[in-house]
Amino acid sequence: MKTIDLVVPCYNEEEGLENFVLETNKVIDSLPEYSFRYILVNDGSRDKTYLIMKKLAARFSNIKYISFSRNFGKEAAMYAGLQHTTADYVVVMDADLQHPPEIFPQMLQAVDVEGYDCCATKRDEREGESFFRGFFSKIFFKLSNKLTDVKNPYGAMDYRMMSRQMVDSILELSEVQRFSKGIFSWVGFNTKWVSFKTVDRKLGKTTWSFGSLFRYAIDGITCFSVAPLRFTAVMGAIIFIVSLIYIMITLIQTLFLGITTPGYVTTLCAVLFLGGITEMSIGILGEYIGRIYMESKKRPIYITKFSNFEDENNEEKEEN
Ligand code: UDP
Ligand code: MG
Repeated sequence: MKTIDLVVPCYNEEEGLENFVLETNKVIDSLPEYSFRYILVNDGSRDKTYLIMKKLAARFSNIKYISFSRNFGKEAAMYAGLQHTTADYVVVMDADLQHPPEIFPQMLQAVDVEGYDCCATKRDEREGESFFRGFFSKIFFKLSNKLTDVKNPYGAMDYRMMSRQMVDSILELSEVQRFSKGIFSWVGFNTKWVSFKTVDRKLGKTTWSFGSLFRYAIDGITCFSVAPLRFTAVMGAIIFIVSLIYIMITLIQTLFLGITTPGYVTTLCAVLFLGGITEMSIGILGEYIGRIYMESKKRPIYITKFSNFEDENNEEKEEN
């Protein structure tokens, strides 16, 4: 019997977690030819998520959990989950039922019958989205597809089913600053894209603010491309050439016509313009140096506090 591991990052999901498992179980029961297992990752939730997880694990034997010592972020949670997978196929999905388990059969058809390595999902094109968010995410997809090796269709989501081989490749990328959409695409393999109608979060609330989405977009580009660095170099070269021409013109004017204008405006413009460009370039450099710094520390991506995996049997510690 083929096995499937479901990796589910959970952060403050006390309201919806049980419902998620019950709903997903309905789909699992309709696929008796596969053996499913949950790997729930509690990403340092501040609510009762962990207790609910433990209760669910006691109720259903196919539920495994890992609980972090603090909030490490969804990327870390996904990585931890993937590290613990052993199944033939692995699904990464959210705990808020925004990633409907109803499309498992469709995904299995792609990876198990049609021979794809991955069946990934993207948002339905016709889907309504707030203008502001839609506008910026479109720019982001265009920009990141142009600047990086990562090619994702517009609206690509993390929700996907992958083959064992692909998961093993993903785990080989052990960088601390993870950007999964990029990593999924970077490792290659053939991916079938399916779309479904997204639904609003029913229980709990989303943890994404506009600021965090902006950071996410910057990460998406800087983690997979040095194009911004090259951009500063090219810009420097252009400014250099333009200034050379301008210097020549000024020299000739001064030599033949004498000094006619005080040049106040020109000086001010040059100073402000170059100052701005320099600041921006230093900022871009800093962005990369910061990344090198964080990466060079080689800190663990996450720290486990509790888990019911046999190999890290630290359940007892909790009792004391
Ligand atoms: N999540 C997480 N750690 C975080 C933030 C979110 O593990 O720091 C989980 C969350 O529990 C959910 C998934 O990541 O299962 C997606 O989060 P959310 O629904 O807030 O994001 P959105 O659906 O708006 O992209
Ligand atoms: Mg969500």
